Amino acid sequence: MPTLEIRDLHVSVETKEGPKPILRGVDLTIASGETHAIMGPNGSGKSTLASALAGHPKYTVTSGTATLDGEDLLAMSVDERARAGLFLAMQYPVEVSGVSVANFLRTAKTAISGEAPALRTWGKEVRGAMENLRMDPAFAERSVNEGFSGGEKKRHEILQMELFKPRFAILDETDSGLDVDALRVVSEGVNRAKEETDIGILLITHYTRILRYIKPDFVHVFVDGKIAEEGGSELADRLEEEGYDKYLGANKSVS
Ligand code: ADP
Ligand code: MG
Ligand code: MG
Repeated sequence: MPTLEIRDLHVSVETKEGPKPILRGVDLTIASGETHAIMGPNGSGKSTLASALAGHPKYTVTSGTATLDGEDLLAMSVDERARAGLFLAMQYPVEVSGVSVANFLRTAKTAISGEAPALRTWGKEVRGAMENLRMDPAFAERSVNEGFSGGEKKRHEILQMELFKPRFAILDETDSGLDVDALRVVSEGVNRAKEETDIGILLITHYTRILRYIKPDFVHVFVDGKIAEEGGSELADRLEEEGYDKYLGANKSVS
């Protein structure tokens, strides 16, 4: 079974003062078809994990391993990771001015699958996926992420996930900044992908809200660069009531 396997991962981020260690030994195994939620306070290193797995140049893996179906993910270029079936929806997606959504989607799809998608079926697929996500067709002609609202950015990320059909998707705070309607639409998109493929999902979130719509099989609590506790979806319910205080120092309280 396809598996994303992370073993004792240590990651530093490049800062002006030099490398700063953030991840301090992360162990996580995600099999296809499974949904894992990573929850934790701000600054605990959740986005660092996502960035390191995606191959962001600012993040250096100092020790540990990450494999996709036994292949060394960390040895792959960013492009190779995408072709191997890894998808990352970033917490803060970048703007690409002068490149339309339609062009971007087609170019990226071509790069990922190694051949250009057939024009007629592709157009239909894109329109269908946009309709599913309640996106105005005119959206396809806008520059990528330029002037997008928070909700539009997140819908665009899920649109990519629907069209690229990755085997593993990392969704970093896809719920942040969404109103209830947008949250429902985005969650439906994720659940559609789960129904139609045996995608493995790593859902990174600060709040439990999105987990009412997307049921995780496993929940991992992230504190200070490592997993502090693990459980099933009931752990998310407990966090909703208790917050993260018990994982932090006695006098520390983090929202
Ligand atoms: P989370 O996503 O859980 O909120 P992050 O992974 O974004 O946490 O950040 C973890 C820690 O790493 C924080 O203390 C943050 O300030 C630090 N950090 C992350 N990226 C950078 C960076 N590019 N430069 C300096 N510090 C960073
Ligand atoms: Mg954060
Ligand atoms: Mg983050």
